[in-house]
Amino acid sequence: MASEPTIHRYPVEHEGAFVNAYLVETDTSVVAVDALLMVSDSRAMRAGLEALGKPLRAVLLTHSHPDHYGGLTQLVAGDDVPIIAPQGVIDTIARDDEMKEEILRPMFGDEWAAETFPNTPISDGDSVTFDGATFTVIDLGPSESPHDSPWILGEGERTVFLGDQIYDHKHCFLGDGFHEQWLENIETLRDRFPEDAVFYVGHGGPVGPGEWDWQRAYIETFLEAIRAADWSNREQAQAEVVVEMKRFLPTDELSFLMELSVEPVAAQLGLVAATA
Ligand SMILES: [Zn+2]
Repeated sequence: MASEPTIHRYPVEHEGAFVNAYLVETDTSVVAVDALLMVSDSRAMRAGLEALGKPLRAVLLTHSHPDHYGGLTQLVAGDDVPIIAPQGVIDTIARDDEMKEEILRPMFGDEWAAETFPNTPISDGDSVTFDGATFTVIDLGPSESPHDSPWILGEGERTVFLGDQIYDHKHCFLGDGFHEQWLENIETLRDRFPEDAVFYVGHGGPVGPGEWDWQRAYIETFLEAIRAADWSNREQAQAEVVVEMKRFLPTDELSFLMELSVEPVAAQLGLVAATA
């Protein structure tokens, strides 16, 4: 009888971590869920894998954002393993990587080195099994990112790698403009999972289904703050939204993701003209 898989979270030092990813360890091998952003962090994750002394079987991606695939090269380290995601996630990453390079290179320098991409598509509801651990994908489509794909581990839908559908009380990225779909997905996922489900998320966590309410409130507060701001002065309006969001969530953690989202969402809502 195989024992339950063990879930390891990286970086090991959780406090202040920008993003996290997971190694799922079975009796004989390891499956990774996401790959972090930075070269040094994903190298440390690889070292953690090697310390387990078991082969990597696959990497599963929870969505198309670069903080979850940027470290694939270091994590995989030349192993010939499938990197699995729905076709929509694969296509989004291929389409947007050049743009992400422009944004992330100035921010992260040599710590940003995305050169390895998902290579194995999977359809909604399909499963993959590695040494007794079964992972089932939910192809959500646009949500927090342009294409999102949470994974369920095992039976009973109680262990879920949720990606960024819930941020654990950190500021959120809404800049891709899919907040309406995100809000719809929150209700769909809320109905789907049992009360005692454990959500392994991309930023902080793990969290439980009680956090759906917080995530909905964050998104709604953000939209209200943008609508309420005086957009005759863009800089002023941006500052007003940031003040309002820090009133809702008094932390600077991941604040830059929220700040990057203000103008794109204001443009999407027709409050300002889009800037290129
Ligand atoms: Zn993320």
